Amino acid sequence: MERVYNFSAGPSMLPLEVLKKAQSEMLNWNNTGMSVMEMSHRTKSFDSIIQKAESLLRKLMGIPDNYKVLFLQGGASTQFAMVPLNLFKKSKKADFVITGAWSKKAAAESEKYGTVNRVASSADKTFSYIPKLDPSTFDKDADFFHITYNNTIYGTRYTSLPDTGNVPLVADISSNILSQEMDVSKFGLLYAGAQKNLAPAGVTIVIVRDDLIGETPDFCPTMLKYSTHAEAGSLYNTPPAYCIYVCMLVLEWLDEMGGVAVMQKKNEKKAKAFYDYLDSSKMFKGTVVPEDRSLMNIPFVTGNEELDKKFIAEATEAGFVSLKGHRSVGGMRASIYNAMPEEGVMKLIDFMTKFEKEN
Ligand SMILES: *Cc1c(COP(=O)(O)O)cnc(C)c1O
Repeated sequence: MERVYNFSAGPSMLPLEVLKKAQSEMLNWNNTGMSVMEMSHRTKSFDSIIQKAESLLRKLMGIPDNYKVLFLQGGASTQFAMVPLNLFKKSKKADFVITGAWSKKAAAESEKYGTVNRVASSADKTFSYIPKLDPSTFDKDADFFHITYNNTIYGTRYTSLPDTGNVPLVADISSNILSQEMDVSKFGLLYAGAQKNLAPAGVTIVIVRDDLIGETPDFCPTMLKYSTHAEAGSLYNTPPAYCIYVCMLVLEWLDEMGGVAVMQKKNEKKAKAFYDYLDSSKMFKGTVVPEDRSLMNIPFVTGNEELDKKFIAEATEAGFVSLKGHRSVGGMRASIYNAMPEEGVMKLIDFMTKFEKEN
């Protein structure tokens, strides 16, 4: 069978070149006579892999020296707990903007350890926009301010960041890491599960400013302290070694493509083509206000559930898979991460145009 165009929200497609490289090195990595899967994480070989992954990530994101890069496990969902456990240092208060399911979960988890101030929410319109923020509602002595930068389920993203002054800005970038340029120095902490834009599921990237690492409550499990992993170079316990290796290959691929600025241009072009089509279509409609539309996740509907079903079935048949929308939005969602070639988006648009004519 041929490979399909996979529009899954995550785990999602990886660049074909990366899969082929991993395949060619599967049985014998760099003349070690073994697969990276079989390799001790205490070897020079594995050290070279994790070092390379870190240095490429630092280069591609322009991560300043006073930030640590950690390769952890437990997904972005574990960060919902690690962030408050490590960052609730003084007031034990945090500001949250509620823009969807992930920020709701993150806020609920923080609330177990401190006080959460929900400064704004877009729940009133099924999270179809990013709420305008009024800085007078921000808590000046909060320990952190949390946003979900790109909302994977609802298809919104911030186009400008809140000015939180001295309060560290924390962002969940699971679904837009390396898709667009970001000024890391504007954040106290960034975290991302890797399975959307970076690697297979199993590794979670945390980028955290040095001064935010340190004291945690006595009850905090060792594995949930940033200091544990920062001091051990992410090798306190066995890391998800093979995921980190594929992550390194993806970072090499991105670097060879020209880096994040080049990728951002490509992503803007792909997303624009898709939104332009949705805006011109009489059958398909985007669900998000134009100014807050995500570059990565594009939900859309026909307004008729039967027609949605028919479309998804016929698209799947034609090799455009995983287009079913999240149950909370319905309809369809096309996730077009870095690894989705422009050709895949253009072919999907052609298919939708044809479907629209025939129905
Ligand atoms: C997928 C996703 C999560 C959950 O990630 P896990 O790695 O499954 O815990 C959290 N936040 C965002 C924005 C996501 O896209």
